[in-house]
Amino acid sequence: MKYVDLHTHSTASDGTDSPARVARRAREAGLAAFALTDHDTTAGLEEAAAEARAIGIDFVPGCEISTRTDRGSMHILGLWIPKNNSDLENFLHNARSVRDSRNVKMLARLQELGINLTAEELAEMAGGESVGRPHMANALVKKGVARDAGEAFSKYLGKGGKAYVPKEAVNPAAACRALAKAGATVILAHPLLEKPDPAWLESQVGELVKHGLAGLEVWHTVKNEANEALLLDMARRHGLLVSGGTDYHGANKPDIAVGSGMGNLAVPYSVYENLRAARKSRGLPC
Ligand code: AMP
Ligand code: FE
Ligand code: FE
Ligand code: ZN
Repeated sequence: MKYVDLHTHSTASDGTDSPARVARRAREAGLAAFALTDHDTTAGLEEAAAEARAIGIDFVPGCEISTRTDRGSMHILGLWIPKNNSDLENFLHNARSVRDSRNVKMLARLQELGINLTAEELAEMAGGESVGRPHMANALVKKGVARDAGEAFSKYLGKGGKAYVPKEAVNPAAACRALAKAGATVILAHPLLEKPDPAWLESQVGELVKHGLAGLEVWHTVKNEANEALLLDMARRHGLLVSGGTDYHGANKPDIAVGSGMGNLAVPYSVYENLRAARKSRGLPC
């Protein structure tokens, strides 16, 4: 059997492996194809594509847009992102600006608590262009303010933490439209991860389909047969495609490996073939 991983992160956002390193890990895991889907950026795609070509593994250029609903965050994956699409790049640039202004507010909160973390230090810790709370957590650990990232989140950075500031909302329907207009395949990431409310999800999916949503991420990190069955049924009823991936983040989520997630994930090659067939039937490149 051949397998794929259609959801991974690199140093372009909050993963800790370079894009080329993610490609090599995918190859080492024996996968036939993988997607790089960094948060709100396409900066890692060229490097990952070049390495994938060099080592002989299929590569899907992707990204994951962070949006917010009245029930919290919602992540939208775009697969087969085109190069240099200025409308999409502008949308992603705005999403990163939303991150940056939130980061500035959180650094000010930390300052009020007597914790001096500068924007420069944070940028250096991040390395890539899409900066987020995992980078802040690593910086707090490095400074000795928190024992580990978990404590950094629970004390300071997570919801309810002393330095927490919500992000200005990026609209999920707008993210779907921006991706769909660019010709990407639009997938709702880990739909049951944060708010496992199938009725609410059903209504969201019904709405987002009108804006270009084309599929659901059925397989994610840990194999969960009940969730998978629920999502497969929802996809079928809405005429949606299905996708799957580990959400690999390197050392920022050390329990998750490329390809197998927390140990037993296995996304079959047919999932990738079906996504490609749907693109071909619409005359889209893949
Ligand atoms: P941001 O995009 O800057 O809001 O950061 C969100 C990311 O932080 C998520 O994708 C998670 O990977 C990570 N995260 C959120 N909450 C926690 C937590 N309690 N512990 C560790 N990581 C977390
Ligand atoms: Fe992340
Ligand atoms: Fe996500
Ligand atoms: Zn992700």
